[in-house]
Amino acid sequence: MQNTYDVIVTGAGAAGLAAAVEAARAGASVLVLEKNHVPGRKILSTGAGKCNFSNASVTPARYHPPAAAFLKKTFAALPPAGVTAFFEGLGLLWVKEADGRLFPRSMRAQDVVGALSNELAFRGGRIQTLTEVTALTPGGGGFSVEACKVAPQWEKKAGRGEKFLLGARRVVLAAGGPCYPQIGGSASGAALLRALGHAVSALVPVIAPLRSGETFLKELDGVRAPVALRLMLDGEPLAESAGELLFTAYGVSGPAVLDLSRAAVTAMKDYKVYLEADFFPELTEKKLYALLEKRAALFAGRPLRHFACGLLNEKLIKAAALRCGLGWDAPIGPGLDGLAAMLKAFPVSVKGSLGFEDAMVTAGGCSLAEIDPATFASRLVPGLYVAGELLDLDGDSGGYNLHLAWTSGILAGRAAAKE
Ligand SMILES: Cc1cc2nc3c(=O)[nH]c(=O)nc-3n(C[C@H](O)[C@H](O)[C@H](O)COP(=O)(O)OP(=O)(O)OC[C@H]3O[C@@H](n4cnc5c(N)ncnc54)[C@H](O)[C@@H]3O)c2cc1C
Repeated sequence: MQNTYDVIVTGAGAAGLAAAVEAARAGASVLVLEKNHVPGRKILSTGAGKCNFSNASVTPARYHPPAAAFLKKTFAALPPAGVTAFFEGLGLLWVKEADGRLFPRSMRAQDVVGALSNELAFRGGRIQTLTEVTALTPGGGGFSVEACKVAPQWEKKAGRGEKFLLGARRVVLAAGGPCYPQIGGSASGAALLRALGHAVSALVPVIAPLRSGETFLKELDGVRAPVALRLMLDGEPLAESAGELLFTAYGVSGPAVLDLSRAAVTAMKDYKVYLEADFFPELTEKKLYALLEKRAALFAGRPLRHFACGLLNEKLIKAAALRCGLGWDAPIGPGLDGLAAMLKAFPVSVKGSLGFEDAMVTAGGCSLAEIDPATFASRLVPGLYVAGELLDLDGDSGGYNLHLAWTSGILAGRAAAKE
């Protein structure tokens, strides 16, 4: 077949670009097919445009469902420090934040995509954008790759181009998951895998804002606060996080919520769960009550809203006070013990998570039993490699998902070029 490459990579995302760079460095002819109009579109949106590309504490325990045996072999083949070394080799300076999250020193996700794309071009690899892979057919010691030209996402009415075929000795499938379809997320990789006979478990949105039916949310829409957050079941914490909590009209979001969302989504299948926000994590309830009492003496005879100003975001303390039955305009009186308890454990019911449109990561995907953990080669289809979010493996928030995408992509690209 004309137009045959050593390696065709499906998807110019994090895993696909890393695979393409490593395969091209090893001397393979490499073509990356990407349906978006630019490579690395999702990378550009990560870490709010700053790209939290890894974490200093990567361990198998950070990944779900538990896959310690699989990841032990993966991290033996490419230890976590191999990922930072990979980026240093691309010329990217990086920094570690106090909580262990790694970012490019420039704090620009664009530099991560740029460093990968520049290296790929320098090594002779090509990226063909606005091209969607529609079928992968093994045969003749390689693959026939069926693809078609597609219009950019904003041209909603444009049709697809004619289908055409390319040849590949090896294929790296790195098409990601369906999260954020507005920037290219799609389940097409899962469909390609199923068509090749791979077992793909149900795709579920995780690391997502949570929905709640609370009426007070209308008043709190847009309010942010640093909190300690607990996911509760029957009065017992199931999981805890700390960081910013963002109230929205539909529910809650922000890093503290995203950290708990996977546990919430999983527990919600069987139990009724709720969140408890602690707005004063640095104080015990007793100390907070003492602080409120002291403040009440200072504001004696004055309305609660005067007492509240400067204590916490006014909308938050008003919501907490109303939930304790305290009048906002009434003079401060008894009930401050209840207010202290409410500010230490402000309950928010959880009704579900937002869907793929707002979720950052997909759980579920290609069965790990069918993948070699050191090369990411398919155990079912010779010459096929599967990398990134398409695998049935998702990480905690904090750089772990991108770390897995780079790791699996690097190992797959190296192995595909060698085979
Ligand atoms: C808003 C947001 C913020 C995030 N922030 C972080 C963060 O800071 N740190 C972190 O670790 N993780 C973060 N994540 C998660 C992280 O971005 C993903 O886990 C990671 O990008 C997965 O890499 P991937 O290569 O598997 O998939 P992707 O990066 O999604 O790449 C897949 C590519 O394949 C293309 N594609 C799909 N199907 C086809 C097809 N049939 N033909 C051709 N091309 C196709 C897609 O257009 C896409 O470009 C964030 C996610 C989102 C949505």
